[in-house]
Amino acid sequence: MRLVTYQLLNSTELRTGIQISKDQVLDIAHEAAALNSTAAITTMLDIIAGGEVTMRLLREIEAAPKTAPVMLNQALLKAPIPRPTKNIFCVGWNYLDHFSEGAAMAQDSRELPKYPVFFSKTPTTVNGPFDVIPFDETISTQLDWEVELGVVIGIPGKNIAEVDAMKHIFGYTIINDVTWRDVQRRHGGQWLKGKSLDGTCPMGPCIVTADSLDPTHLNLKCRVSGVTKQQSNTQHLYFKIPRLIQDLSAGMTLEAGDIISTGTPEGVGFARTPPEWMKPGDLLETEIEGIGIMRNPVGSY
Ligand code: MG
Repeated sequence: MRLVTYQLLNSTELRTGIQISKDQVLDIAHEAAALNSTAAITTMLDIIAGGEVTMRLLREIEAAPKTAPVMLNQALLKAPIPRPTKNIFCVGWNYLDHFSEGAAMAQDSRELPKYPVFFSKTPTTVNGPFDVIPFDETISTQLDWEVELGVVIGIPGKNIAEVDAMKHIFGYTIINDVTWRDVQRRHGGQWLKGKSLDGTCPMGPCIVTADSLDPTHLNLKCRVSGVTKQQSNTQHLYFKIPRLIQDLSAGMTLEAGDIISTGTPEGVGFARTPPEWMKPGDLLETEIEGIGIMRNPVGSY
């Protein structure tokens, strides 16, 4: 099932929907009302927290809709979770070729990591799948791209064993871990600042529920103004998703709606010769097989 957050063109109200075709969405609140459901499902976080009870309702809606679908040419898709309740968890150096290109640029001989590198992006980074990525040359001009598979936690847990990890996943989305590269580097090696400028986490265009997608062999691509910059497959993840969940949840509760961005493959701008950066007017396209594509113009404040 493909779940979206959207707004009608004449409204700023965020609504949730089930995407039933390329251009049609069922409005979940309207459908639930038509079924006389009393479930509190206004936001995507409500849906995720609702667990299996809510998913049963959504499957009933998808199988026999009672209302006319919303046409997507009358709506804008937004980030499926527009305002996460905490920072987005991110993983660094999780494709070997990206690890190698980083090591080559730093001219060091770092050893392969024994544990995943975790950092985070603040909730205010979240951006829609077709919205503008802000560009402010007074802060930096080194705007880089990072296509990543996003994992959305469903069932909360702490100390989750690798073998149980997949049961805790609600679904999958696309993230671009857009990075202001020199800002990332200049703050003592702590990445939070350069990874957390507003609008640097395009997310979407939907969440594909875990029962509908095998995340282990998905092609992922990133293009800038039509030129392919990154092209890989999630089979090359160094730390696989169960290991990431095991390590991240050790002594730290993962909650419904938490998001883990699993790392980016090779081909980022800073590691190119010469380095490449996005600029106003560029179009950033981020695509993962089975989930969809995001198209974010780079613009100015
Ligand atoms: Mg990243």
